[in-house]
Amino acid sequence: MTTPVSTAKTSGKEVEKDASMQKQKAMMAAHYDRLTAVPETGAKVCNTFVPGNLNELIKCFDLLNNLPEINAIQNGLRRLSGNFVLEAEKIGHSEDVCTYVKSDIGMMAKGNIAPNGKKFPAPDVLLLSYTGCFTFMKWFELLREQYKCETIMLHTPYMGDGKFTPNMIEYMVKQIRDEVIPKLERISGVKFDIDRLREYLKKSAVAEDDLVYVLETAKSRPSPIDAYFGGIYYIGPIFGAFRGTDDAIEYYRFLRAEIDERRAAGKGPVTPDGDMGTEKYRLVVEGPPNYTHFRQFWKMFYDEGAVVVASSYTKVGGVYDLGFRHNPDKPLETLAEYCLGVYTNRSLPMRIDMLTQYLTDYDADGLLINSIKSCNSFSAGQLLMMREIEKRSGKPAAFIESDLVDPRYFSAANIKNRLESYFQMIEQRRAANRAAA
Ligand code: SF4
Repeated sequence: MTTPVSTAKTSGKEVEKDASMQKQKAMMAAHYDRLTAVPETGAKVCNTFVPGNLNELIKCFDLLNNLPEINAIQNGLRRLSGNFVLEAEKIGHSEDVCTYVKSDIGMMAKGNIAPNGKKFPAPDVLLLSYTGCFTFMKWFELLREQYKCETIMLHTPYMGDGKFTPNMIEYMVKQIRDEVIPKLERISGVKFDIDRLREYLKKSAVAEDDLVYVLETAKSRPSPIDAYFGGIYYIGPIFGAFRGTDDAIEYYRFLRAEIDERRAAGKGPVTPDGDMGTEKYRLVVEGPPNYTHFRQFWKMFYDEGAVVVASSYTKVGGVYDLGFRHNPDKPLETLAEYCLGVYTNRSLPMRIDMLTQYLTDYDADGLLINSIKSCNSFSAGQLLMMREIEKRSGKPAAFIESDLVDPRYFSAANIKNRLESYFQMIEQRRAANRAAA
């Protein structure tokens, strides 16, 4: 299944689309079609967020999952978010508010149109698995005002001490068992069946194994993947609406075979301009990307031979590479453990440990932080993290700034300059190391 199955035009060139890309595209399109067909099918909808999403549980109630961050990203990539952000500011939302939120609010004000051109359905329930970012709570307060629908809050204790305890798991399981499940049963009209949940969890774990396999191929030289720009595509099904499905299992099987083939051929990552040239720099990246200029941003890396071998952003919906898998033998406990472990719920020292370890494990040249203007959850403490990681690893770090889906905060010239200086810094460090050897 690794043979490219079709071609599409990108930047005036024909590029090959692999089986996994085709599969993912079809999955996303089908999902949006299911959502916008709700007026005809009568299906019920649960809006929820990526970090801590309980997709397996949601599926037990035949609810369709709608993820507002994914919709904001789609609007960013399609260059629609800028106007939506302005619209939200006109309504009164401050410039400092997370631009995912403003893109979502602006989209609703402008007709609430999904990527397939049809109207998004109103949610029947807002399920907030709160995992460390306060914005999630305020965002759903706004949606609740708009839709007047039920809201369920699952509180995840923050991992302030760098670990979770049996008490934390118990506290969460109690909420899931006594609050979340009964409310979802009532709203959906479907009785909870724990064996159905076990089946979905079993499927999740299969896909999670393959995702980790793919992400860890970046330890090879050259890396056959870009674990940030490319990684965003790879995490899509598991972080989105497909965990627990056969579609996700199939997608990751295709992807794994494709990446294995690239690695065996000694190839680097596929970029929007085709195969990347010689790998010159290996980076670990902290922070989300910019989506309004995604390709331009990525090009600044691959034009210089820079590949991202590990990133924290691809852990925002689950830190599977550190060993977590959804476990069908402990169905409710595993949902609790999943929410506790996601990146946004990890303390700064835990983030520092993780990124420092990545620099060693992936034999990277250094750390790059993309600080997102409107995402406090990621940005708070990043300078401190950078200094500490530099000190511990002895590797150079750099800091750039942009925004998620607000095009006003993407300054191409600034970012390019900083990246060029950073690559020079890496070269100087290499020369100094050679001289010292
Ligand atoms: S984690 Fe950042 S991007 Fe996500 S909702 Fe919170 S502030 Fe917004």
